[in-house]
Amino acid sequence: MSLLIQNAALVTGSPDRVTPRGYVLIEEDRIAAIGAGPPPPTLAYDHVLDATHKVLLPGLVNAHTHLEQTFMRGYSANRSLLDWLKNYIWKLQAAMDAEDVRLAITLGLVEAMRGGATTIVDHHKVPFSARHTDVVLEAAQALGVRLVLARAWADRGTNAESPASILADLERLLDEWHGAANGRIHIANGPLVPWRCSPETLRRTTGLARQHGAITHCHMNETQAEVAMTVQETGLRPIEWFASLGLLGPDFHAVHAVWLSDREIELLAEHGATVAHCPAANMILASGVAPITRLLSPQPGRARGVNVALGTDGPASNDGQDMFEMMRLAAYLQRVTTLDAQAMPPGQVIALATVNGAHATGSPRFAVGDKADLVLLDFDAAHIQPVGDVQASIVYNARGSDVEALIVDGQVLMRDKRVLGLDESALIAECRERAVHLARRAGVA
Ligand SMILES: [Zn+2]
Repeated sequence: MSLLIQNAALVTGSPDRVTPRGYVLIEEDRIAAIGAGPPPPTLAYDHVLDATHKVLLPGLVNAHTHLEQTFMRGYSANRSLLDWLKNYIWKLQAAMDAEDVRLAITLGLVEAMRGGATTIVDHHKVPFSARHTDVVLEAAQALGVRLVLARAWADRGTNAESPASILADLERLLDEWHGAANGRIHIANGPLVPWRCSPETLRRTTGLARQHGAITHCHMNETQAEVAMTVQETGLRPIEWFASLGLLGPDFHAVHAVWLSDREIELLAEHGATVAHCPAANMILASGVAPITRLLSPQPGRARGVNVALGTDGPASNDGQDMFEMMRLAAYLQRVTTLDAQAMPPGQVIALATVNGAHATGSPRFAVGDKADLVLLDFDAAHIQPVGDVQASIVYNARGSDVEALIVDGQVLMRDKRVLGLDESALIAECRERAVHLARRAGVA
């Protein structure tokens, strides 16, 4: 099976390169050819898609979300992080049954795909039973999207789990699911926050993840209050503490990383770690502004800065999954805080959402021989035309609703702005009803 996409503007593996008009040939699950201009007449293919006035770019990587929160939208308004977590989110999570999780995740995945994501890192916070987690993986497998499920855990405080249960379930998931669905599903170790995790379980889960080639993904340095809690308990700031435990490496994702010392930035760069930047959640919860421009700049004595990927965070603290909106917010935030109009040019912003996210998660890029994970954007719209600069239009004009087609692993998952293989209206109706019952059961309605 092969598909030719022709007459598209191409934003290939390096987001600095734009081909105004070109073609891409997909054979089975891989990109077989990329070229400028019209395709050569000798090119053989089964199907063709004309992409005049459309832009083809690498699949976007949503580097951090919690899709079970799709049933928890709207609770973050005017609440601090800790009030919001303790009085709303943790209660709702504790009341979810496996069917609630399945529906919330399916709706969340559909929203994420409509927002341009071909890879989604879901920091899954409802691991109350194996079933509560398996339904997430089954939903991703059914829709065909690429999923990194970071198995969340905390062995201290509210909803704490025993270290034995955390390790056993993480091992089960790694054995049964890591690399499943033709490699589209990955499992990750997902400690929730440093102040709710014991050093021993942090070390053991990271060691287990490393044995399986899996990453570790944790909320770090999100608010000043959290940094102070770790300093009080350990005498070290959170990134310093994690470094002292041997947890940092190219396989480590620091989610948020808003409040960082110079030493912590150096440590992240030294270990080749990734920062997952979530600008909307940082603004809604009044956490602060992550120093992205500084993180991306080469650190003293090093050729490169820190790898920074982009995430939406969960629907409860965002309240959406649109990666185009995240690109725009990431650019605005750095401009206004650095007072530098040159900060975060469009190519750099697109890199956060594509190649940097792909680097962090092992997802494909847009190059010949790579798995075909692509997004086709409809640029034939009043809020986009006329186009002066393709990259600037992607960052400043495009919206999730412009995603016309989504391809993952060579499979067309969205076409003509429709998610294939499910009745979206019926899903929305079912979720609407289910979420009302959940809020009543949890005592937050
Ligand atoms: Zn989060």
